[in-house]
Formats: sequence, C-alpha cells, structure tokens
Amino acid sequence: MTPHGARSRAWLVSAAMALAENLAPLLDLVFPPRCPLCGEGISAQTGLCAACWGQLVIPGEPACALCQRPFPDTVAHGSLCAPCMESPPRHDGIAAATLYNDASRHLVLKFKHGGRIALAGTMARLMAAKLSFVEPDWLIAPVPLHRWRLWRRGFNQSALLAREIGGTHGARLMVDLLERRKPTPALGGLGARARVRALSGAIVVNEGRAADVRGASIVLVDDVLTSGATSDACVRALRRAGAAKVVVACFARVLDEALPPG
Ligand SMILES: [Zn+2]
Ligand SMILES: [Zn+2]
Repeated sequence: MTPHGARSRAWLVSAAMALAENLAPLLDLVFPPRCPLCGEGISAQTGLCAACWGQLVIPGEPACALCQRPFPDTVAHGSLCAPCMESPPRHDGIAAATLYNDASRHLVLKFKHGGRIALAGTMARLMAAKLSFVEPDWLIAPVPLHRWRLWRRGFNQSALLAREIGGTHGARLMVDLLERRKPTPALGGLGARARVRALSGAIVVNEGRAADVRGASIVLVDDVLTSGATSDACVRALRRAGAAKVVVACFARVLDEALPPG
C-alpha cells in the first residue's frame, strides 16, 4: 500500500469513529449493545459488562516508588522492586491501567486485531484515571509503529489511545513525536540482550519536533507494556533529545515474571 493509502485509511478510521459516536443512540436501537468480551447485553455501545469489568485487575498501592510495580501488602512506603534496584529505570514512572491477565489480553486483542477500535475510548478512560498528575503543558506521544506495520494494520493502536488521553487532560497530542526508523521483529521470544540489539537505532525523535521535546514532560503511550524494551528505547530517544520527564502509560502491564530469562 502507498503512503497515500495509509493516510486515507487513517482518515477512514477517524471518520468511522466519529460516525460511531454520533450514531450511538441509533445503533443502540438497531444493534442492542453487547459486552465486547463476553457478548452479554450492556447499556451502552462502549464499555464492558459488570462481570468483565470485575475481571480487570487495576494495580494499586503499595507499589515500587520508581516503577509502580504492585507489592504484596506490608512493604514500607518508598521501597523499590528488585528490577529497579538492579538497574534504575530511565523513565519517571509507569502508569498502568490494568495488569495483564486473560481479560485485559482479550480486550487488547479485540481492539488491535479484531477491529474494535471504538474500545480505544474505554481503554483510554482507564489509563487517564492513572494520569491525574498530567498538566495541559505536557505532551502525549504514542510508541511509534514502523510504516510497514502501519500500512498493514491501518492504524497505530497506541496513537488511538494517545488521542483519547490527550483529550482528557488537555495535554498536547503529538502523534509523530517519535519515529520508528527500522522494522523490528516480534520481541516476545527474545532475551533482554537480543531485544536491546533489535531495537538499537530503531526509534528516534522526529527532527521537526526536537524543539518541542527539549525540557518537556511527556506521557509515552503504549497498549501493552511487556519487557519494557520498546518503551525504554523510546524513553532513551526522548531523554537524549532533552525531555525533562517521561512517564510510560500503558493499558496492560505484563509483570516480567512471565518473560523468558534475559
Ligand atoms: Zn462481559
Ligand atoms: Zn520498580
């Protein structure tokens, strides 16, 4: 597909979302709203049924002071988790809407690969609830997709989430703040070192945005935070360009117990 094709697809996606919002009351009459996870009838086209909401795990306190990894009870305030003690993160915190489990995985799959892009609003609302510290002078930027993947999928799922979050807090959305210069393989099966190697030089700050990044506080938006290797490459690029603060926001955070050893 040509870049023009990708642009028109992105436009179509926005147009479809706007249309879906405007037609919502009508749609409710024609197609009674159903929970996107289990198919149960619900009261509005966006959102989940109560049972599915209940399966999402929202991380809370106590948590690591640097990365907000939830601790089992009885840990002193200000404590750090083992990964942060071993190597302090480059970011200034992780704001995760949910912890990765069957329910959040299912939701992300419907959103990303099942074409349910209207879920962006529901997911972003949960993310925004963890971003109350964001001020209107902050920038909101998605983890970039390489253009080949963008052409294939037709949208960047993180950019859709970032757009919804930007609206919530009045912060400036900059979809093109970061660029992915080279395609990267799926990082899932790779160890820590191989992930770093695969991402080396892959993510850069858009030259035209360098002045915006200098001294800025930035929310970096990702859908699923797995090993953190991709977001770390983004944070590194933003820091190198002079960002004052970078908080990573994700819909679902995979705690790294589940990852292959690096
Ligand atoms: Zn449900
Ligand atoms: Zn930590």
